[in-house]
Amino acid sequence: MDYSIDIFDNGEPIEIKTTFASHDRPQHYQDQIAYYMLATKAFVGHLLIIRENPRIESPFEPYRMEWESEEESESYRNRLIEKRDLLMVALQNKEVSSLPIWRGEKDWLCRNCLWREECDKIEGIVR
Ligand code: SF4
Repeated sequence: MDYSIDIFDNGEPIEIKTTFASHDRPQHYQDQIAYYMLATKAFVGHLLIIRENPRIESPFEPYRMEWESEEESESYRNRLIEKRDLLMVALQNKEVSSLPIWRGEKDWLCRNCLWREECDKIEGIVR
């Protein structure tokens, strides 16, 4: 497993995200920090959202993340291991159909894709 932390300071991972969105904080930002915390055995991680929308008065939004319980970190660890195992099987079999489909929150990864209609048909998504 490989990863690239933006900043690793004093044993704590820091991830910086730039966005034009004016207020949302996608779950995958938090997930990414959580996985970095697991990978580095850190108890604390940080997320800095920089909002590039010129209408925003305070473009810097820092968040501090900390495991709330052993169960929370275990849950993230199990999810990560499950994803890794699925990926390993798919790579060994050269067959991706067993992998979960990830379109991003609110479909953002697919939003402008030319194949969206085709993928929607395959997955039975009606818009
Ligand atoms: S091909 Fe396009 S629409 Fe289909 S899953 Fe990938 S990004 Fe989304």
